[in-house]
Amino acid sequence: GAKKQGSGNICFFEAGMETAGEAQNQRRRELRSALKQGEIVPYYQPIVQFPDRRIVAMEVLARWNHPKRGVLEPGEFIELAEDMNLITPLTLELIRQVAVDMRTWPQDIRVSINISPRQLQDAALAESVIEAVEQVGIDPTRIEIELTEDSILDDYEMAKSVLSIFRMKGMTLALDDFGTGYSSLRHLQELRFDRIKIDRSFVKKLPASGESLKLIEAIMRLASSFGMAITSEGIERHEQVMLIEQQGVSSGQGFLFGRPMPSGAANALFHRQMAV
Ligand code: C2E
Ligand code: MG
Ligand code: MG
Ligand code: MG
Repeated sequence: GAKKQGSGNICFFEAGMETAGEAQNQRRRELRSALKQGEIVPYYQPIVQFPDRRIVAMEVLARWNHPKRGVLEPGEFIELAEDMNLITPLTLELIRQVAVDMRTWPQDIRVSINISPRQLQDAALAESVIEAVEQVGIDPTRIEIELTEDSILDDYEMAKSVLSIFRMKGMTLALDDFGTGYSSLRHLQELRFDRIKIDRSFVKKLPASGESLKLIEAIMRLASSFGMAITSEGIERHEQVMLIEQQGVSSGQGFLFGRPMPSGAANALFHRQMAV
């Protein structure tokens, strides 16, 4: 069977498989059938607001319930899905499942959905996402679209028009992993993101690094002058929350508040929160 080799590297060779090409074909077949068999599922990670730390949203993070290898993370299959032109079917399948899960959530909880760079380069893909949302009956104003800086750069004008399609439907836009890519300030302003998500690499060095704190402070000032909200990723420790809150960051996400979890666990969490 397949075997894990350190962080995220998977060996796909199996008995009788002679070449890397065959292994690759096997992976492709597996992913195609996984999508059909419902093995690709949404996990949910809480996003909490400060200072009360109530859950205000859930980020949808794809997982592959692999029959032999257990729960696989996106690092193992999203790129392949992109190469195979399966990323849009995958996103649509997630949206369908999210719609079902959201029916039992409190009405004011929103979801964040990650969109690949490639999906921003094709207006038809944006339309199909919106169609899926309308079909399954999720209120679009409960949806935030997350995209990375790099996704804007390939074809800026196209990205701009695709984003305006989402916006017209009432969805909000978040710039994911901020601080790791190359977005120009002009783009930031022009595309009118509702939110910046500070990459977890900045938070990771807190509280020790004064430099990281200065960067977060600068990002915070930038965001507020553009009228954008800020969410901090990757919060793992109590000392980090205190520093981040002091900077005026309005919400956060990280293992401290909750790891990505399957829908049943998310439901249980809401029941506990509502009981408080
Ligand atoms: P992302 O959108 O930046 O998502 C946050 C990632 O950080 C998630 O990894 C999450 O599990 C992880 N994380 C959250 N809090 C902490 C923390 O406190 N400490 C640490 N060490 N990690 C934390 P995950 O689930 O492996 O997802 C990785 C990336 O895969 C995502 O990064 C996103 O870019 C991509 N992705 C996930 N689902 C989808 C999807 O449905 N479509 C697309 N296109 N991309 C997706
Ligand atoms: Mg994200
Ligand atoms: Mg992120
Ligand atoms: Mg990230």
